[in-house]
Amino acid sequence: MGKKYLIYTYGCQMNVHESEKIAGALSGMGYSECSSVGEADVIVFNTCCVRENAEQHAFGNIGALKKLKAEKPDLVIVVCGCMTQQGDFAERLAKTFPFVDVVIGTYNLDDFADILKRKIETKKRIIEILERNGEISEKNLPLRSSYPNAWVNIIYGCNNFCTYCIVPYVRGRERSRKAEDIIGEVKSLVDEGYKEITLLGQNVDSYGKDLKDGSSFVSLIDEIAKIEGKFRLRFMSNHPKDFDSEVAKAIKNNPHAAHLIHLPAQSGSDRILKLMNRRYTVNDYLAKIEAIKREIPDCSVTTDLIVGFPTETEDDFSDTLSLCKKVGFDGAFTFVYSPREGTKAATMEGQIPDEVKKERIMRLVEYQNGYNRERSKEYIGKTVEILAEDFDEKKNKYLGRDEYGKMAYFESKENVIGKLVNVKIKSTGGMSLIGELVETERV
Ligand code: SF4
Repeated sequence: MGKKYLIYTYGCQMNVHESEKIAGALSGMGYSECSSVGEADVIVFNTCCVRENAEQHAFGNIGALKKLKAEKPDLVIVVCGCMTQQGDFAERLAKTFPFVDVVIGTYNLDDFADILKRKIETKKRIIEILERNGEISEKNLPLRSSYPNAWVNIIYGCNNFCTYCIVPYVRGRERSRKAEDIIGEVKSLVDEGYKEITLLGQNVDSYGKDLKDGSSFVSLIDEIAKIEGKFRLRFMSNHPKDFDSEVAKAIKNNPHAAHLIHLPAQSGSDRILKLMNRRYTVNDYLAKIEAIKREIPDCSVTTDLIVGFPTETEDDFSDTLSLCKKVGFDGAFTFVYSPREGTKAATMEGQIPDEVKKERIMRLVEYQNGYNRERSKEYIGKTVEILAEDFDEKKNKYLGRDEYGKMAYFESKENVIGKLVNVKIKSTGGMSLIGELVETERV
């Protein structure tokens, strides 16, 4: 029986994709994936320190392996991801969990296979956290697990230092991949049959600035427009200070680009935006929305919002609600502010009590969900093109999204995962849609 691995992934899409690269490295070493800790020869915790509960989850799961490791000493336990890059975390982790074999940071993830080999050969514990931005070596080819969707990194790190965010401290400054590498990767994915490709970066609009070879996010989108084949192109995430009408035009002119732009507003109050160091005002943000609607009138816009940032007053919060009403977001990821150690906002005076934060987020979510439910009703009777992504066992239905990101469920006798299908919407299930299959893609 071959060797097996299991990866626990915490946090954002960036980490999910990094886990695909770790899986690629392990697969190259002859390992295959398993589904339980008991079967595994290598267990990897790809951690995240951006969200508080992701950290708590990781700790709970690492701690639970103590007994297994005592029974199976050859089991290799690896902890990596951005949590290990934070302050003295790696040292503390190593002390708290002496049975953890390898602790590595975000900058040496590319050397995953070499580090694991070294651990197995020497049997010595490895704790290695590099403190600088490495070259983008692209040693690990991802073992993708989310067909028909694929994620492609275009830029690593972030230069923005929003005062609530730990990312620039744990993932370093912006480093763009070479355009030809990105375009080559997108082309191969299209050839392999992937139907939705999301370009990933903490701030995709900054793409190319560090390369100093004339590359930009707009030129990258324009080059991807020339790739033949049917696929949807998405981007995650834009930054309102860098997003401009040129980007909107490039999206409009790209036949593959979905008409959905994720533009994180974070707050509707200028005072709070300044404290967050977001470097735009509410009026700047609204001007970007206007530019999007001017270039791409049917474009849907989604956002991220933080509630309960230090010193946020009821008036500031009302401004956030007003922004939602003005823009009409087609979706909002809403977060309760929680201080992250090492960030400027964590030491600010005027931290908001939990009960106030909870009450505000409930009001925001209630408003946004109500708006999205109403928007969903507008779909009833329409036929929409859905990319079938998965099968929901409980509902006994396939599910997928339209280009605007709207989720729809429908029945099908044949397996349609990976196909673009036409679905006539009959009703809504809260914010999602329920429809009947009309026609499947003719390939
Ligand atoms: S843009 Fe701001 S919120 Fe986004 S990763 Fe950079 S510092 Fe964090």
